[in-house]
Amino acid sequence: MGGKFFADALVIGAGPAGLGTALALARHGVDVAVLEMQDRIGARRRGETIRFDREMDGLLGEGFFEKQTIRRINRRSYFSHTGLRRVDRTIGNPNLIISWPDFIQAMARAAEDAGARVLPASPVVGFVREQGRIAGVRAMVGGFMEEELKAKAVFSCGGCEDPASRLLNINRTGMDMPVSKRLVRGYAGPADRFEYHFHVHGDSLTIATIFPRAEGEAEVILMGYARGRKPRTIPFEEFAQAHGVFRERLEGTTSFYSLKTAIPMGRMISACCPEDRLVMAGDALGHVQSRGGSGIRTSFLLGYTAGRLGAGALQPGAWTTETTRKLEQGIQGSPPMRGLRRHNLIYSTLRAGIFGRIRDPGKMDRLWPLLRIALR
Ligand SMILES: Cc1cc2nc3c(=O)[nH]c(=O)nc-3n(C[C@H](O)[C@H](O)[C@H](O)COP(=O)(O)OP(=O)(O)OC[C@H]3O[C@@H](n4cnc5c(N)ncnc54)[C@H](O)[C@@H]3O)c2cc1C
Repeated sequence: MGGKFFADALVIGAGPAGLGTALALARHGVDVAVLEMQDRIGARRRGETIRFDREMDGLLGEGFFEKQTIRRINRRSYFSHTGLRRVDRTIGNPNLIISWPDFIQAMARAAEDAGARVLPASPVVGFVREQGRIAGVRAMVGGFMEEELKAKAVFSCGGCEDPASRLLNINRTGMDMPVSKRLVRGYAGPADRFEYHFHVHGDSLTIATIFPRAEGEAEVILMGYARGRKPRTIPFEEFAQAHGVFRERLEGTTSFYSLKTAIPMGRMISACCPEDRLVMAGDALGHVQSRGGSGIRTSFLLGYTAGRLGAGALQPGAWTTETTRKLEQGIQGSPPMRGLRRHNLIYSTLRAGIFGRIRDPGKMDRLWPLLRIALR
């Protein structure tokens, strides 16, 4: 590979996966730069609840979670479409409410403290190849002109808009579910619990969640659930019209942040190392654990694993096909990946099996005793 390297390793995306990757690479002595398209790290919000995880807390510096926690919530209520059925749950490891921008910026500081360069306003627009192999990326660093940045390896962690996903023509239909999110003020509903409201109509299932935040604030999310076909969501207003309890909860609130995006629901779509010198992690690969408060943690831990094992692959000597094979094997066999697979096999399969049979609100009420098992 000719020319000067911009860094030994380039990471695309300063989300949990990219920052976990960069943290591990830097800690293992690799010169790494993270390229983030947003002008400010964490500007585009995603998930804002997480559950305490000792491993992640330790990797980010003990007490990290405590410092980021706005409030703790360990109760959940699920409402059937008609509102006639309900299940209340109390969970042992409470959900911690965080502020996404603060959380991500604190993660970025941890990566920087370990020696990584984190570069906002630096969208990656393509890949550089030499003799057919990945040799870097084309990016606009700090918003300046597009340039070629060479590296020994690229770690692509760009979430559901990941550029490597596009490069490899990965078909994400049926994996990415559409999500609309709002942060609202003036919320006067129960502050001690998460609420989940279901809507079924023929082939479409929409789940609305209300997660209370700081005093009078709540995160409201509408998510279309995949049932074999391309999932879709109904608009907030339409959902509120159809669901009295949900409507009541949001009465008098005003939205101060809104976002339309997608969330992959735990179906891995390709190898983590699809080519020599290219590694992918996080939502880019559908690495979400489809259970409340697990996506951030899973993406971070898988990113960290990819970075830790990737640092070994970057040792002097050519990166051969055998290096890629071993790296893939290492990531696939790692505890976070095994845990993710096991979890998704149990919960995603169970939920898909039950939700897939529900076509109308009445059937949802009839199947509620069965559904209760999956609502964990
Ligand atoms: C609305 C919503 C709510 C969620 N709620 C929760 C929750 O409560 N708890 C939970 O644990 N999980 C939640 N999740 C899931 C969780 O947020 C994700 O699984 C996690 O953020 C994935 O991390 P990631 O780093 O793979 O991707 P992302 O967090 O999406 O980060 C990818 C980064 O890459 C950048 N990027 C993309 N393309 C480029 C490019 N070409 N050049 C440079 N940069 C690029 C993006 O700007 C972004 O910063 C939620 C997701 C969504 C969408």
